[in-house]
Amino acid sequence: MRYAQVVVPIPVDRTFDYSVPPRMDPLIAVGKRVRVPFGRQRLVGTVVGITANPAVERTRPIDEVLDAEPVFDEHMLLLTRWISDRYWCSWGEALAAAAPAGARRRAVPVRIEKRVWPAVSPDEARAACGSLRKKAPRQAAALEEILARTAAPGIAPTGEEAAAAGPGIPVSSLDETTRRAIRALSGKGLVTIRSREIQGGTDEAGSGGLEQPLHLKGGQKHAAKLVIAALESGSPGTILLHGVTASGKTEVYLQAIAHVLAAGKQAIVLVPEISLTYQTMQRFRNRFGSCVALLHSQLSPARKSDEWTRILKGKATIVLGPRSAVFAPTRRLGLIVVDEEHENSYKQADTPRYHARDTAAERARLAGALLLLGTATPSLESYHRAVSSRYQLSEIPNRVDDRPLASVEVVDMREEWSRGRGQAVFSAALEHAVREKISRSEQVILFLNRRGHSTFVMCRRCGEAVSCKACDVSLTYHSRHHRLRCHYCNHEKALPEQCPSCGSASISYSGAGTQRVEKEAARLFPEARIARMDSDTTRRRRSHDELLRRFDRREIDILVGTQMIAKGLDFPQVTLVGVISADTCLHLPDFRSAERTFQLMTQVAGRAGRGQMPGQVIIQTFNPDHYSITAASRQDYRAFYNREIAEREELEYPPFGCIVRVLVQGTREKAVIEVAGALGSALGARASDGITMLGPAPALIAKLRGQHRWSLLLKGNDTRELRACMKTAVADLAELRLPLSTVRITADVDPVGLA
Ligand code: ADP
Ligand code: ZN
Ligand code: ZN
Repeated sequence: MRYAQVVVPIPVDRTFDYSVPPRMDPLIAVGKRVRVPFGRQRLVGTVVGITANPAVERTRPIDEVLDAEPVFDEHMLLLTRWISDRYWCSWGEALAAAAPAGARRRAVPVRIEKRVWPAVSPDEARAACGSLRKKAPRQAAALEEILARTAAPGIAPTGEEAAAAGPGIPVSSLDETTRRAIRALSGKGLVTIRSREIQGGTDEAGSGGLEQPLHLKGGQKHAAKLVIAALESGSPGTILLHGVTASGKTEVYLQAIAHVLAAGKQAIVLVPEISLTYQTMQRFRNRFGSCVALLHSQLSPARKSDEWTRILKGKATIVLGPRSAVFAPTRRLGLIVVDEEHENSYKQADTPRYHARDTAAERARLAGALLLLGTATPSLESYHRAVSSRYQLSEIPNRVDDRPLASVEVVDMREEWSRGRGQAVFSAALEHAVREKISRSEQVILFLNRRGHSTFVMCRRCGEAVSCKACDVSLTYHSRHHRLRCHYCNHEKALPEQCPSCGSASISYSGAGTQRVEKEAARLFPEARIARMDSDTTRRRRSHDELLRRFDRREIDILVGTQMIAKGLDFPQVTLVGVISADTCLHLPDFRSAERTFQLMTQVAGRAGRGQMPGQVIIQTFNPDHYSITAASRQDYRAFYNREIAEREELEYPPFGCIVRVLVQGTREKAVIEVAGALGSALGARASDGITMLGPAPALIAKLRGQHRWSLLLKGNDTRELRACMKTAVADLAELRLPLSTVRITADVDPVGLA
């Protein structure tokens, strides 16, 4: 009898042994998923080992083996184990995050399909028909039918199936006599019959020819040389590609990938958001055709499972997608590209709280693959590693063809205010610039990192802001339905006519959101076609793509949006970018707020003037002298880095040392405070030299979805020490009489935000 060691997706970090019934013995293998009884429930777990000696005497049998082939290879088991170690979750939770959609993969039907094509030109075929008509009338008729049907593509099956099979006529659609006849025709070299495997129907045939690689320019050439040398060396390591916006980094990725494919290997390309996959996918498909697979959470489970299979079987050699694509089942991995490596969206917000960039680094290390990090605004962590020689650094200081970077003008909103324009969304300078671009039929992007109409609704008599009952944050006014909405829990309520606390009717709106910008733009520029892109307008599947396509076709003059439009997009006709307010994230109580502001400003500015026409950027701010804004306006990364890295060193924030944020939450405030206090004392007692603890204190958002929240911040030299300290301190709590059942303690290792 054999026993399977199984991990299940519960927050307990251990394996459980199950017996393998004899009829399942041939099916069981490490890396396959199984359904197992667990207490009174049934769970889907992963087999991580097989043994003859179970750790317990009484074992229960496995219900069912769910996979025909292992979904996790040895590297993926090691990688998920690493995640559970580093990010403080169980192995089962890490495996669940890495698994393909759905507990059970739909069996992907594999069909062998035969298709037939004419093998000669239409004229030759018609001549052949003529000469066959007497001796072999059936063959002549068959050839005529094939000719007619290939000339009239409308008859061919439409949709995905046709695309999957390419042109030609399915043999199955011919009658028996014709089928016999085409065999004879094939013998005469008049038609070609070919079989191909059809799977799931995602194999979109590359439409027409593939695009050729571009001839690399200046800095690109150096970057590509470095990348290829690394790929050819035995230990490729990591390269940080720091290239200004529109310096042609994507072309470097494309050529690196071509190199990897030529060596028979696969590549994973991570992009920060689903909204960016559309443009990137186009560029990749144009270059590489149907061997590009797409993996993201908005795919239907069936489609996701098809893509997963194509990758697993090596049919797809390039995988593109956000964060979770780092788990793509590539078996011959040669390269991982992390585009816009500085983006916070690479960090998962709930368990397992992994950082996809750092996970990619570990995966690349296991596979002996190259990790290529690309960005115009490197994270402090990555740039620090590059200048201290742990990464190779390649810099492209100029745009392609030495196109100028956009010229940036900073508008001091304090002056606008004193001129009586303080409440205005548009400064005089921005209004003038937009008008000018519109009159020249050029395109404009207006950026504001806040959605909704007004970010708070305040009583002018008592100063009270209307806030969410479940969350300790102010509600945002959305003008479309005249309702207030909480941006954390999505709770909605009608706009009050009177102040809920003092009854006064003088309620005012402050803090513009994208909705208000859109409305204001429509009033000021009635002739312009305006669209808004934020998570309110793009909730529907594919609506991102639709908006971007319309902008691409120039059916939109002004695109208003949140950070969704700040990154990565390449629209050559955009000559003006207006930042409505640079201040939205500058004053967040977070050590990364200056970095975020610099990155956002530089990235947004990078959307202007990417084509032949020079770009202009106008940044509106109440803090025109802040170093993140002055450096961004000069697009001077080094100046920003030098200033910021000194501050980090002084305060021992990353990249100097690391931090773990511990959050205690629960519905009963008293219990939360009690546990947070006890945890604080335990941590204080257990902390070795070199570990600093801040807190416990109410979290920045002290209440969220009805949960009270207290937080603690641990700073130390290395995450391993911090984790060990956490572990013993939490164990200490069990000894005390605490209301532990009503609170939840979570740890976020390397957090990217402190809210
Ligand atoms: P980045 O990724 O650095 O922001 P992109 O790769 O989007 O820059 O390149 C900016 C623009 O320059 C794109 O329109 C791209 O097609 C074009 N481009 C890039 N490399 C070349 C090249 N070697 N020759 C001509 N055009 C190029
Ligand atoms: Zn709320
Ligand atoms: Zn009031």
